[in-house]
Amino acid sequence: MIKLYLGLEPNILTTTRANKLNEAVRLLNSHGLNSDEFKKVFKTGYQCARPLLFKRQHNKCAFCEISNDDCGSPVEHFRPKLGAEEKIGGVWRRVSTHYWWLAWTWENLLFACERCNNSGSKGNKFPIRSSASRVLAPPSPCSYPISAIHYDCASEERLLIDPRLDNPIDHIQWIPVNRTLHPKNWQWTVAGLDDKGDMTIEVLDLSLRADKVTNHLKLIVSQWVDADIHLKEGRPIAAQATWDRIIDSYINNPEQPFRNAAWWACNALFPEAERNRLGLSHPPMPFG
Ligand SMILES: [Zn+2]
Repeated sequence: MIKLYLGLEPNILTTTRANKLNEAVRLLNSHGLNSDEFKKVFKTGYQCARPLLFKRQHNKCAFCEISNDDCGSPVEHFRPKLGAEEKIGGVWRRVSTHYWWLAWTWENLLFACERCNNSGSKGNKFPIRSSASRVLAPPSPCSYPISAIHYDCASEERLLIDPRLDNPIDHIQWIPVNRTLHPKNWQWTVAGLDDKGDMTIEVLDLSLRADKVTNHLKLIVSQWVDADIHLKEGRPIAAQATWDRIIDSYINNPEQPFRNAAWWACNALFPEAERNRLGLSHPPMPFG
């Protein structure tokens, strides 16, 4: 998971949101929050954001960073559309009717792969800190337009990383399972750096991507071996050039999958102190 800059929403979403929210409010007032008529509105509309999200996310899942071949995956609602789930007593349960009014909000939409989006993974899960409260839901009956207060989610203290607002590298790291082995034989695992990282890894089951990430990082390790040989044989300029190619190819290139893991791998292979000693570049945080 990396930080995403997704820019402004497409005009078609602005228009669609106005129509759909208006309809949702009308059906809420006439049929109620639990009616099929109200729920039916939420099946459509947001798909118009998918092509632009797909393009701006460089065809990759916002959560696991796997590359997708086509636009067939669903649009992910970061905050769920019809009821948020919390983990209570070890079981995920629906705890509220949040966040139907955000169903067509650009800042709440992401492109995600089928696996991360489905109910066994992210689904409707949206945990917040137990001491915090969810943003105020619009009343029922409700008036349109919906008051801005219901969109102010900043104080929610969510426990999921929002790739638009957070830098996932501050919360999630990839580490070698057994550092005593030669890096060529490293298997990689994902770990949280705080409770937000831990919860995000659990909700998205990111450890299921460990084999794919390990295979990807082997490409980096094989080039790092070349850089290491250059250093040991007294060719520091060749080593620097190889190292810079690794950074450009695997961290700076927005088309690459698993750039979070690549950043951690570069830091494990040549830690900061060693880079300083050898005069090697520092890998920049990946984004976009
Ligand atoms: Zn995914």
